[in-house]
This record gives sequence, C-alpha cells and structure tokens, in this order.
Amino acid sequence: MVKRSYKKSSKPATVHFVGAGPGDPELVTVKGAKLLKKAGVVVYTGSLVNKGLLKHCSKKASLYDSAPMHLGELTDIMIDAAREGKSVVRLHTGDTSLYSAFGEQAEILERNGIPYDITPGVSSAFAAAASLKKEFTVPEATQTVIFTRLAGRTPVPVDEDLEALASHKATICVFLSARAVEEVARLLIKGGYPPSTPAAVVYKASWEDEIKITGTLKDIAGKAKKAGIKRHALILAGRALGVKETQAASKLYDREFFHGYRTKR
Ligand code: SAH
Repeated sequence: MVKRSYKKSSKPATVHFVGAGPGDPELVTVKGAKLLKKAGVVVYTGSLVNKGLLKHCSKKASLYDSAPMHLGELTDIMIDAAREGKSVVRLHTGDTSLYSAFGEQAEILERNGIPYDITPGVSSAFAAAASLKKEFTVPEATQTVIFTRLAGRTPVPVDEDLEALASHKATICVFLSARAVEEVARLLIKGGYPPSTPAAVVYKASWEDEIKITGTLKDIAGKAKKAGIKRHALILAGRALGVKETQAASKLYDREFFHGYRTKR
C-alpha cells in the first residue's frame, strides 16, 4: 500500500457518491457532472462506468479505477483526500441504491468522521426500459416492479429466491445474472410465469455497442446465448413488456377521469 503524506485540513471535505448512469456519458445528471468537474479526486468503478464520463473531470483531478482495489484501499484514497480538503467523487454505475456496495463504504467514512452525500443516477434498469420503449408498469397488466439477482458469491435471502418472486408475476429486472439466462428463465417459469411471458435481455443499455434481444421466457435464453451475451446485461420479463403502447391507456389521461390538476370543465 502506498503511504500518502497529506497535509491535514481542519475540516474534511465531503465525499460525493454519484450515480454515473447506465453508460451513455450524457446520462449523468447535471448535478453529477458539476461535481465531477469540481472534484480533485475521482474514484470510479472501471469495470462498468463509461470512461467517456471522465471527460467531465478537471485535467488536474487524480482518477482512480476501483476495479482492482479492495474496500480498504479505495476508502483510504477517499479518506486521505477528504482530510486534505479535496473534493472527492465516488462514481458508481447506474444508481447508487442498487447493487453498488455503497453502504460498506459509507460506514467506513462515518467511522472516520468524513461527511458524504449522494447524487442519484439513472439505473441501467431504466435505460433498458427506454431502449425497449416499454413501461414497466402498465394499467391492467402490472403495477409492480421487482429488482433482483441470482445468488452468486453474494447470497440472496431464501424468501427472495426467483421461484418465490415469480409467484407475483410482476415485471422483473434481474441484475448480475447474465451468465445464467437459462437458469433465470427456468426458475421464473417454475415459479409461475407462463412460458409465453414476454422477456428481454439488454446488454450494455445506452452504450454504443448495446444489444437488445426480445422474446419469451421460453426462447430468450437460446437467443441470448446465440448473441454471446454473458455479462453486463439485464434480464427482464413480465406481461408489461408485451403490451403495445396503444393498449396501455391509463386513467391519468382518460378524458372522463378527473383529479386535483384537471377538474371537470
Ligand atoms: N447500480 C447499477 C447496478 C450495478 S450491478 C444500476 O443501477 O444499474 C451491475 C449489474 O448491473 C450488471 O451485472 C448488469 O446486470 C447491470 N448493468 C449495469 N449497467 C448496465 C447496462 N448499461 N446495461 C445492462 N445492464 C447493466
């Protein structure tokens, strides 16, 4: 571990956790881009964050890819820089609230008396919906979305295994499981989704080399395999994905439906 000799400032600077968005560098928020511009130190998840985003950073900023680091290494960088009074951005792919390991980093910062805040980002789930031109919630089809994953080295609580979640037949977005589309589809069908349920696999949503594959739970695994998708993809399924835009009439804009912002004329 490199020993850093930083001049300590009396009050540490804030570490800003920023959601980088799904890939397209223009899909970071205005606030996130401003923080990147001001940052003296940026720690980014190199395996998933589009490096094009780093163009927002000042030439003088020190940039660190967290991919090869362990937790202590990357929090040391953030703590040292904040104590030196440098503005720090910790850039996470998508939104920080989903599978980002934000919590364990925040806990270490708290223990060390380093203030932090969060700027949310566009999750890859929403980029996938945009790319498919679909709504996850459609009146009369489903009003519920489940974000989940297959167990990997990180276990999933038993109550939340895919078969159990499938009983709801809601729209489901499966993260971190592109290596096992076949298993995901099999478990979803076993748990209650009809095999004809619309399904999709979106690889690198919003990136230039995005691939989207659509089908049903019965054939999606074969199609994804044929396209060679094994990582960096979401598996999506649910009735809502099969609803044509023209069928998806909501009450909100129904001319006979009145509410606080549109009363009977
Ligand atoms: N916080 C991120 C998720 C991080 S977990 C978010 O909100 O999107 C990493 C997993 O997210 C990947 O294994 C993949 O399943 C999914 N993912 C991240 N970026 C993606 C993208 N652009 N397209 C499709 N899936 C993506």
